[in-house]
Amino acid sequence: MTILDGKALSDKSKQQLKNEVETLKQKGLTPGLAVILVGLDPASQTYVNSKEKACEAIGIYSKKITMNEDISEEKLLETIKELNEDESIHGILVQLPLPKHIDSAKVLEAIIPQKDVDGFHEYNVGKLVTGNETFVPCTPLGVMKILEEYGINPVGLDACVVGRSNIVGKPMMNLLLNAGATVTITHSKTKDLKAHTLRADLLVVGIGRPNFITADMVKEGAVVIDVGINRLENGKLTGDVDFEEVSKKASFITPVPGGVGPMTIAMLLHNTVRAAKFAKGSC
Ligand code: NAP
Repeated sequence: MTILDGKALSDKSKQQLKNEVETLKQKGLTPGLAVILVGLDPASQTYVNSKEKACEAIGIYSKKITMNEDISEEKLLETIKELNEDESIHGILVQLPLPKHIDSAKVLEAIIPQKDVDGFHEYNVGKLVTGNETFVPCTPLGVMKILEEYGINPVGLDACVVGRSNIVGKPMMNLLLNAGATVTITHSKTKDLKAHTLRADLLVVGIGRPNFITADMVKEGAVVIDVGINRLENGKLTGDVDFEEVSKKASFITPVPGGVGPMTIAMLLHNTVRAAKFAKGSC
């Protein structure tokens, strides 16, 4: 069994991006990312701060915009419009979830697709579905990079994705399908989940249920990717897969922490650098 070391791959990707940013800066192009945070949700604050730090570490200009919980939707849309027109900003990210009085879909659609480094705009979602080059949501993109790094070719594999969110499951399904896997996507209404997971050569799980996937649900020799991040009462982080038991059956498996998680931020940086290069027509 091989542990898929997302942390090491993330460090390697960030180093490569740092070098690339240095070269771009010498040509007069500094990639810029704007991150909008509405309200004081502690988890969102932590995510935004780590995105800001990661940008600084590789030389990307980052602009953090914090707004009060009771900000109007109109004001938020106005800010996005300004950022769409700001030439120093190549990527715009709105930290989710937004307060209930704001229509998240409307906000995500307001970001121009060329700056949509999260890949949530319907235009970019459509391009992913049709198998065209586009900005891909960072977490499933990180999963694809892990597979590539370890020489795991999805062509012809039976893949099962557990979870159908717009952020994880659905883009994951499309990426694997585009890469030549035969994909089954499952969710909370799936009749016999185990029948599907047991058939999978490649199992990707993102549901937010600690240790939900047990060894009896996994095929011998399967590649297992755990996207889940769950904080237990004792403060420990754990995934959606029972790592200890499943790792005895899997050929490759991601740990939590240190698997998919670190790749998400690395892919955000990757998308931002790509957006900057597109903007300058150098890519
Ligand atoms: P989400 O929007 O809540 O979606 C959860 C999905 O799991 C839904 O499709 C749901 O089905 C499905 N599900 C829930 N219980 C299930 C069950 N018992 N059997 C089968 N399917 C079930 O969550 P998300 O945003 O996709 O996140 C999922 C997990 O990934 C969370 O732990 C989150 O923290 C983690 N995550 C990690 C990263 C990272 O960087 N590594 C990034 C994003 C998310 P229905 O659609 O039928 O309700």
